[in-house]
Amino acid sequence: RTGMTAPAPKPWIAAIAPYVPGRATADDGRRVVKLSSNENPLGTPDTAREAYRGAATELERYPDASAAELRAALAAHYGIEADRIVYGTGSDEVLHLAAGAFAGVGDEIIHVRYGFAVYDIATRRVGAVPVVAPDRDYATDVDAILARVTERTKVIFVANPNNPTGTYTSREDIARLHAALPRDVLLVIDQAYTEYLDPEDDDGALALARTEPNVLVTRTFSKIFGLAAERIGWGYASPAIIDAMHRIRAPFSFGIGAQRAAIAALDAHDFIAASRDHNRTWRGWFERQIAALSNHGLRAVPSKANFVMVLFEGALTAGAAYQALMAAGYATRWLPGQGLAHGLRITIGAEADMRAVAEILRTEA
Ligand code: PMP
Repeated sequence: RTGMTAPAPKPWIAAIAPYVPGRATADDGRRVVKLSSNENPLGTPDTAREAYRGAATELERYPDASAAELRAALAAHYGIEADRIVYGTGSDEVLHLAAGAFAGVGDEIIHVRYGFAVYDIATRRVGAVPVVAPDRDYATDVDAILARVTERTKVIFVANPNNPTGTYTSREDIARLHAALPRDVLLVIDQAYTEYLDPEDDDGALALARTEPNVLVTRTFSKIFGLAAERIGWGYASPAIIDAMHRIRAPFSFGIGAQRAAIAALDAHDFIAASRDHNRTWRGWFERQIAALSNHGLRAVPSKANFVMVLFEGALTAGAAYQALMAAGYATRWLPGQGLAHGLRITIGAEADMRAVAEILRTEA
């Protein structure tokens, strides 16, 4: 004993920069339109809401810890095996499970420079070292990732489309990345935004996870399915990977309302199609508005997701644009802590909100 008077967090825990969630209020407490967390502006499918309400008669009992009905529904919906599905409190937890089951102190986990913030947290949490691969004009650079694989690499996190840049990695690049990896490296392909892709843009990740023993695909109900509040994520991989992750997951990761709502949302085809259409239309429109401001130094990174990363390379800075939008009642995501002081990630919201945001940027620029 050294005479310390309080428990000391592990040094790698103390080194974690905590996750900063998207803002829903301004500094003065005013509610603002939230274009900061990539939620669905069309809301939640009515059938999912009803299924959620229906679960209210069973609140005294624990939910099904095996999520059997939800896994069966996912298996039928995606043509995959129910016993190769793991789930968690949002896909956030599934990412933590991947790091927790396959990496530890001194190991390395690779992610891209402009990547999802949870990768760094999940890596440090287990005492592993985050290894950052540089981007190629904001997109995932498969060769840069491969160049950083060492004897100590255990996991690689790749989001497709990527957050916060919205960029897409082709099927060929995903296949090339996987093919060049040692077989004991777990490749996690985080498909939180995959439902927003056009049908021709299948990145092949689910098919890879079906046949390859070292690929995990993660998905979420938080985005196109409109259920972010209920924290439902899942993953699909080989039986050995799934088994390891189940050993460390919280026994009752999400509630009965969540399970019922998710099952209903899977079948909400019209809602999902409408969400995809809305996103395609207004993302395209918004990207054109930004292109029209190119002489003021604004540019949009090409996005296949439900948000756009706008870069500010002229007189109007991203910080000033963030403040102007906030003052007008719009929360966007400014990420100076992630090396993106010059960009704003803006979720594709309702039509009126996209028009208002574009107008504010035009005025400020
Ligand atoms: N992966 C990526 C790339 C994300 O952007 C998000 C949401 N911000 C998640 C995973 C986690 O989503 P959830 O925990 O809500 O499933």
